[in-house]
Amino acid sequence: MLKNLPQPNLQLKNNNVNEFDFKNGTLHAENIALNQIAEEFNTPCYVYSKAALMQAFNDFSAGLIGTNHLVCFAVKANPNIAILNLFAKLGAGFDIVSGGELARVLAAGGDPQKIVFSGVGKNADEMRSALNAGIFCFNVESASELNRLNQVAGEMGKIAPVSLRVNPNVDAKTHPYISTGLKNNKFGVAFEDAIAVYEQAAAMPNIAVHGVDCHIGSQITELAPFIEALDLILGLVDTLAAKNIPISHIDVGGGIGITYSDETPPEFKTYAQAILAKLTHKNVKILFEPGRALVGNAGVLLTKVEYLKHTESKNFAIVDAAMNDLMRPALYDAYHNIVAVNPRDGETNVYEIVGPVCESGDFLGHDRALNLAEGDLLAIKSAGAYGMSMASNYNTRGRAAEVMVDGDKLHLIRQREKAADLFALEHLLP
Ligand SMILES: *Cc1c(COP(=O)(O)O)cnc(C)c1O
Repeated sequence: MLKNLPQPNLQLKNNNVNEFDFKNGTLHAENIALNQIAEEFNTPCYVYSKAALMQAFNDFSAGLIGTNHLVCFAVKANPNIAILNLFAKLGAGFDIVSGGELARVLAAGGDPQKIVFSGVGKNADEMRSALNAGIFCFNVESASELNRLNQVAGEMGKIAPVSLRVNPNVDAKTHPYISTGLKNNKFGVAFEDAIAVYEQAAAMPNIAVHGVDCHIGSQITELAPFIEALDLILGLVDTLAAKNIPISHIDVGGGIGITYSDETPPEFKTYAQAILAKLTHKNVKILFEPGRALVGNAGVLLTKVEYLKHTESKNFAIVDAAMNDLMRPALYDAYHNIVAVNPRDGETNVYEIVGPVCESGDFLGHDRALNLAEGDLLAIKSAGAYGMSMASNYNTRGRAAEVMVDGDKLHLIRQREKAADLFALEHLLP
């Protein structure tokens, strides 16, 4: 049996704004005890810290002050309109990947002039909505998409501002499912084909070439792949200039990682300095598309232990959150630190932390040493990115409530879905 170790203090780790701390033996979000949140809003429940969100955005931007830049939050990491609104007020732009995300950003008060539209499969409707809104740039991912966009813009009498997302064939050294900059990925235009596609773009009547874009993957914890990709992009920008295709912005994408357990991603400042150092002689605007790094450690998933089940080979803690609430463990075998909201002294057991969904892949954590009783609350840490945004209704489970803590104030930012909500759009046969 393991002793109950003190809770790790992640506060000093890189890019880890941590507003989730123990006070008087209880885990708090800022000044609010997580038990109070469970009492008021029930579990499972996503809890975000406003201070942590703001600090992440401000820290990210701090290294960029004085440069012509735009930080476009990657909406898919966490699309709640309260979060988008908070970032919009701090001056953020947004990286969207669907018409749905465009609608969200506009509903949240985002500035269309600060939106970039990424994604391999934009359809004509999505292109029309974005052209109508007047977005900053389309990040085009293929020659076919370019043709379609030229046609759609032409029908509307508009000119579409465009970057090509080029695929620099750089290994981001991350999980294969979240690596996007390798030759065998579906994303972007192959680096070798980029010049030819830019020449096509430059000749199209309803396309205006503005930028170059790349995004090599997610949860990247080393600087080298970013710099390798940027060097290739800068070479491309020079070649394009020589061909009389001037580039006014470079979009370096997102992907900077966070600390889930013991990763040490580059600090924002180091990352910004390394990128800006390469751009000193270029008169271009620089765009960033961070997602995870701005929200990942600003949220936890609060859940309750329903049952403890001790079998011959394993101890299971069956909690009320599941893979439909937080898919990352099931999808990527991702690690999330899991802590008791009110840790007990004494002996621990090694638990499989699992949900109620009927899948053996429905786990939230393996081999966690905890001292648990039924009814205890657990916080699944680093759940602010790709948590709620990937949640589903599998097993007809309503998606969790989302709350945001602001000092000693608690705001419901998304109510829990009820069963009737889940089949409200379905119809019986006549
Ligand atoms: C997902 C995505 C991002 C954000 O990635 P993070 O790893 O969350 O920073 C940025 N740009 C594009 C095109 C993406 O698809």
